[in-house]
Order: sequence, then structure tokens, then C-alpha cells
Amino acid sequence: MAKKTLIIGAGGVAGVAVHKCCQNSEIFPDIMIARSTKEKCDKLREEALARTGSSTKISTAQLDAMDVEATTKLIKEYGADLVLNLALPYQDLAIMDACLAAGVDYVDTANYEPEDTAKFEYKWQWAYRDRYRDVGITALLGSGFDPGVTSVFSAYALKHYFDEIHYIDILDCNGGDHGYPFATNFNPEINIREVSAQGSYWEDGQWVHTQPMEIKREYDFAQVGKKDMYLLHHEEIESLALNIPGIKRIRFFMTFGQSYLTHLKCLENVGMTSIEPIEFEGHQIIPLQFLKAVLPDPSSLGPRTVGKTNIGCIFQGVKDGKPRNLYIYNVCDHQECYKEVGSQAVAYTTGVPAMIGAMMLLTGAWKGPGVFNIEEFDPDPFMDALNKWGLPWVIDENPVLVD
Ligand code: NDP
Repeated sequence: MAKKTLIIGAGGVAGVAVHKCCQNSEIFPDIMIARSTKEKCDKLREEALARTGSSTKISTAQLDAMDVEATTKLIKEYGADLVLNLALPYQDLAIMDACLAAGVDYVDTANYEPEDTAKFEYKWQWAYRDRYRDVGITALLGSGFDPGVTSVFSAYALKHYFDEIHYIDILDCNGGDHGYPFATNFNPEINIREVSAQGSYWEDGQWVHTQPMEIKREYDFAQVGKKDMYLLHHEEIESLALNIPGIKRIRFFMTFGQSYLTHLKCLENVGMTSIEPIEFEGHQIIPLQFLKAVLPDPSSLGPRTVGKTNIGCIFQGVKDGKPRNLYIYNVCDHQECYKEVGSQAVAYTTGVPAMIGAMMLLTGAWKGPGVFNIEEFDPDPFMDALNKWGLPWVIDENPVLVD
């Protein structure tokens, strides 16, 4: 029977995922888009159908995904086989609860983060393992680019190129320019919470903590050039540390331009990035949410962003008793993405793997039941799908290492 997919969220990432589902109508003959405002879902439906000429049937609905009962009801009424959660990390647990109640599979791209604490970790979602296994459904966590593709690269490297991987450096380079002095490429609130938090990396079985932006390196990225990159805490480190046996160190670096950093420092210094509520003219407001409202909407950056992203992983380890280094990466062009789906490359590199993750479960290429991080599944069908659906990857067997 034709499978039905409920997509929650209709922002930048969901916009790409919906276009990609439309291009892949054999696997996605019927989707529903639901978010707080139905008009935005309707607009996305019209754009995706016009751009792709797809036969995918798209319906839309208004939904507050924090309301577990309403989400469960919508899943059942629509008859969804799978829920693709492309809303915000705050909604993850509520949507996982609704999937449990309705008995359908779950996919997301970012791990749960409580709204009042800028701390993301997997413990809350891993706590659902037994319940998902008991009900016989699957949750696939982190099917974006990072986490997501970088985690699949790690599983692929281990499966085909290494007996043991000892060091992983995940490098996320956005060489794009949108022409604004300051804007974020995905949800500003989530982005600023992530980059203003303390950094950390995994070494010798424990976390090493750093000050925000304390560790800086320069790297020469293929098709982008030399960029400064900074060590950040990132969620895939937590699961890769468990799922890559013999690992000694995992670090995550992201590139930032000087204008972004100077603006961020200034906003921090005046208190605009705080998530502590303040009283303003009789209202409680959260400064970071107010800041989000005045910043450019990431989904409006598509037409004006030029340049490329280069995201991948450098692996160091051993094969047949000999040391081996390997770099697997993808390069994505902002303007090419815009021409294809009307979005810039940061949304594209997340929306494509979100569609592929959903496809892995819908086709039975990946099977549960339980709660899984993406690197726990066989990487091969996902790697093939990346090449087919717009994120081709490159293997460099002689990479320059990060010191
Ligand atoms: P946007 O802010 O553009 O979109 C978020 C969407 O969620 C909006 O459509 C919003 O609808 C909807 N939403 C928010 N709250 C609710 C709610 N209570 N009920 C229903 N819908 C809701 O975000 P992005 O598209 O940039 O990011 C989406 C997700 O992707 C985030 O979780 C982000 O962390 C993740 N991400 C993952 C990456 C990866 O590589 N793994 C990279 C980039 C992003 P409305 O405005 O109507 O409330």
C-alpha cells in the first residue's frame, strides 16, 4: 500500500525535504505538512508542486506539536506510516510521545533540547529505547548533515576502510556569502544557542570542555579555500563516541567569518543572546527570541547566498596493521541549490538527508525496532542515496590533517 509521511515543520529544512519527497514520489506518493501556521504549509505545497511537477499528493494541517494528544490524533486521522520531525529540537519528545501513542516510526535531524537550558544531549531520547522496542516501532535520530551524513560517513569509513578509527575531525565549512553583516543560515535561536555555548570534544573516554570559540584552526577547504574554523560542542560526538569502537578523540569544527563573530560578541555583551526571560513593558520576553524576530529569516537567504559549503570528516586509524588517513566530504553550491529547490545550501544539506532517512525506514532498507542513532545502521544504501539525491561525496585518501 502507498506509504504516507507526516512532515512536521515547514521552515527552511522542511522546505527542502518536501521538494525532495516530491522528486521521489515513488517512495513519497502522499505527504502531509503540518506546522503552527497552515498558510505557510499551503505556500510550501504550491511552491514544491510548481517547481517539481510531482505526482505526490500533499495535504496540509495546522498543528501545535507540543500538544501530544493533537499530534497523535493527526497521525491517526491522516493514517501516517512515518513522522518526519523538522520542527525545532524543543518538540522532539512531544512528537516521540505521539509516535509511540499512534504506533508509527519517527525521524528527526536534531536532538532534544529543553527550551530553558541551552544544553542538548541524547539522554532524553535514548530513554525511549525500551518503549519503542516494545511497541515495535523505530526512531531514527539525527538524519540531517551534522549529525546525519557525517555520522554515516563515519560508519562507512569504519565498514570499508579501517579496522579501527582512532581520531575523527568533523569539519563544517560554509564558504557562502549572503551579503548581510549578520544572519544565521538556519533557525537563529537554535544556531546562536549552539555557537555561544561552551565548546567540548571527546578524548580518552571523557569530555574536555573549552570556552566558546577558544580553539581556532585554519583549514584550506576544497573548492572553498582557506577559512578560520572554531571548535564547538556538537551532538554527533556523543553517539559516535559510543558507536565507533576504539575511538580516542572526536572534535567538531565550524567556520565563521569575522563579521559574524564580531556581531555575536557584541550581541552577547549587551545581553541579546540570553535565554533568561526579562520584563519589558509589562511583558515577559526572552531576549534571544526577540533577536530572532529582527534577524533575516534564514529561508529568505536563498536568492542572495553565493559560494559553497564543504562538510566532511577526517579519519585517522589503522587498516591491516598500517596507519591510514581518509577524508570524506561533500561540496554543495548555494546557488545550485536555490535553482533546484528555492533554498540555500545549509537547508539543502539538511533537508536531503532528512528525506533519505525517511526513505530508509519506509522502504525497509533500515529496520528497527527501537531508538537508533543513524551510524548504527548499514551506511551503504544511505551513501548510494546521497549520490543519487544531490549530495555526492568525495574520498580523499591523502588529506591534510588538523593539528
Ligand atoms: P525553521 O525555524 O526555519 O523552521 C522550524 C519549523 O518548525 C517552522 O515551520 C515552525 O512553524 C515549526 N514549529 C515550531 N514550533 C512548532 C510547534 N510547536 N508545532 C508545530 N510546528 C512548529 O528551522 P529550520 O528549518 O532551520 O530547522 C529545522 C530543524 O532542523 C531544527 O531542529 C534544526 O535544529 C535542525 N537542523 C539540523 C541540522 C543538521 O545538520 N542535523 C542543520 C540545520 C538545522 P511556525 O513558525 O509556524 O511555528
